[in-house]
Amino acid sequence: MKKIAVLTSGGDAPGMNAAIRAVVRKANYHQVDVMGIYRGYEGFIEGKMELLDLGAVGGIIQRGGTMLFSSRCPEFKEDKYQQQGLEKMKQAGVEGLVVIGGDGSYRGALALSKKGFPCVGVPGTIDNDVPGTEYTIGFDTALNTVVESIDKIRDTATSHENSFIVEVMGRDAGDLALWAGLAAGAESILIPEEPYDLDDIIERMNRGVARGKKHSIIIVAEGVMSGGELAQILKEKAGVHTRVSVLGHIQRGGAPSARDRVLAGRLGARAVEVLLEGGSGRAVGIKNHEVFDYDLDEAFKMKHKAEISLYTLSKELSI
Ligand code: ADP
Repeated sequence: MKKIAVLTSGGDAPGMNAAIRAVVRKANYHQVDVMGIYRGYEGFIEGKMELLDLGAVGGIIQRGGTMLFSSRCPEFKEDKYQQQGLEKMKQAGVEGLVVIGGDGSYRGALALSKKGFPCVGVPGTIDNDVPGTEYTIGFDTALNTVVESIDKIRDTATSHENSFIVEVMGRDAGDLALWAGLAAGAESILIPEEPYDLDDIIERMNRGVARGKKHSIIIVAEGVMSGGELAQILKEKAGVHTRVSVLGHIQRGGAPSARDRVLAGRLGARAVEVLLEGGSGRAVGIKNHEVFDYDLDEAFKMKHKAEISLYTLSKELSI
């Protein structure tokens, strides 16, 4: 291979820039040119891309977001648009593609690989919900953002002796809520993977009050319900007043943590190697601290599982 391309797609995540940098620098190390495709599959279809030289990815390792921009591009599910993009790649002499994104983006990568255009997926999402890898790029940064925010909320909650509900991102995966809940010492955590028990939530709040606790923090992943809905339920069912804080998009932003930068460097570089070794329809991931690669087909047969032991542990620790 003499020329490959890289794109970022779907929900953005801190560390995507560090991954782009790793792809470009590793490819250049092997005398391979890298085209940066703008706005995910939208740019792929239109052939919107530029050569990224070593300097083009300088000064981005510490920056949140993605210099290539991202998009949702529903039409990319259609064969016609995939073909159109492939034609543009052929014209530009691009022989392979690194896709940085979540499992939705992986489906696009798999579709292209099945058409004979080699693609490798790099997991980039704050949700940590890509099957096969233990961690995704962006999760650690988002987790730290959530924990820092909860620490701040706790200060004001204590001063006013309030109970707070903090709504965090996570439609289908509770990883962010779970890890943040354990790290911030929340009384209760509501995640999509586990049914919640209203009586238990209320009992935990009451128990805290009884032993003189000045505040209470409940974390709810958005996939369970909104913070507002939970506040309403607690008010109606138990007459408990809570304040609600929805963290929203701040969870996606910010400079990537050192851990995410290292992960992005390792995974981005490995993705290039996999392409150069002739791999196609594959993804890179991390398991037991080791970088590895696996078939995208396999990824879709697996289901991401949040670390449920943390759920049990957080209950035990926040009595
Ligand atoms: P994420 O990659 O963060 O999971 P999405 O699920 O929104 O985000 O997927 C990102 C993009 O991947 C979609 O907008 C679409 O362009 C592409 N994509 C998703 N599913 C498919 C599919 N089945 N076939 C081809 N492309 C897909």
